[in-house]
Amino acid sequence: MNQHTRIDPVPFIDIGAQRRRLGQSIDDAVGRVLDHCQFINGPEVTQLEAALAAYSGAKHVISCASGTDALLMVLMAKKVGPGDAVFCPSFTFCATGEAVALTGASPVFVDVDEATYNMDIASLKSAIVTAKARGLTPRAIIPVDLFGQPADHDAIAAVAEEEGLFVLDDAAQAFGAKYKGKRLGTSALATATSFFPAKPLGCFGDGGAIFTDDDQLADDLRSIRVHGQGSDKYDNVRLGLTGRLDTIQAAVLLEKLKIFDDEIAARNKVAERYARSLGNIVTVPRVTPGNESIWACYTIRLPKGTDRDAFAASLKAQGVPTAIYYVKSMHMQTAYSQYPVADGGLPVCEALSSDVISLPVHAYLDEPTQERVIKAVRDALA
Ligand SMILES: *Cc1c(COP(=O)(O)O)cnc(C)c1O
Repeated sequence: MNQHTRIDPVPFIDIGAQRRRLGQSIDDAVGRVLDHCQFINGPEVTQLEAALAAYSGAKHVISCASGTDALLMVLMAKKVGPGDAVFCPSFTFCATGEAVALTGASPVFVDVDEATYNMDIASLKSAIVTAKARGLTPRAIIPVDLFGQPADHDAIAAVAEEEGLFVLDDAAQAFGAKYKGKRLGTSALATATSFFPAKPLGCFGDGGAIFTDDDQLADDLRSIRVHGQGSDKYDNVRLGLTGRLDTIQAAVLLEKLKIFDDEIAARNKVAERYARSLGNIVTVPRVTPGNESIWACYTIRLPKGTDRDAFAASLKAQGVPTAIYYVKSMHMQTAYSQYPVADGGLPVCEALSSDVISLPVHAYLDEPTQERVIKAVRDALA
């Protein structure tokens, strides 16, 4: 390896490499939309929804403008609002709890499991007790499939059933991942995902989708997507949004979906190599047997006493970028500090926020580059 490649920074994600692989196909797909000019609800939107339904096994796919809208639209359709409690993990991207708060309902924050970083079932049960004690009406659970790994959906479904709640799966980081052998999209009443460019299946702007087997919910979501339309756009039967996915983004996604499985396999190879090479010096993420992660992030925990900023600076000096998801759990954020947390507090969320760090992971990270990342981590901890 020459001096030049040594100091070239490693891309944290590599959208450029993917574009080169796809060659002319994305340009051609976008060109077709520019030619037919159906920028809203064009044929590619319908084609994408059908392709995503086939891919996920869900009966209905409602594409939409973002992952946040996907969450919000389901909560709107289920008439979640003031006085209601919706349970979500605190160790997540803010959109999970934000969608709840936007409806006027109260997010109630739940701790996560140390091994999977996903919703902890005992803490979920305490949070339900907490919500009731505060006079809130428990309505829904929003598990997050964090960093690409499915949450414990069977256990969550059992709690939901016992309490009469519905489940909205926040799979913004995990579309394509498998829970007990089945792709996400049918493990909850509704599953929301995001096509933000940095997500494993990303478009060239904002986008999202909702997956459900429920016919009534699907109809209501299609209405909410266009300002609560009834028989036509100018008949408004409920509140809604400008919630549509652009045709150009659907065209981009149709091309990217063709190579998605291959990319998931490549991401898994990277994760396996990291686990083999780093498992003895840091806490590497664990995937529950029977599940498959798509590795939206590769998030390690540093040994106790490690100065995380110094660790990040040391990697950066070797051209290896890192990111911290999430420096603050949601309940530690100013905007969400007034909402309840599960009885017993959220000690795991708080510990993770202080010691996690994410390494570069993407489908185009070749072996020499992975070795560079591994060496940089080893050097920083030596
Ligand atoms: C990215 C993300 C969202 C929101 O998706 P957008 O498309 O950016 O609105 C929601 N939840 C989680 C867990 C996310 O990572």
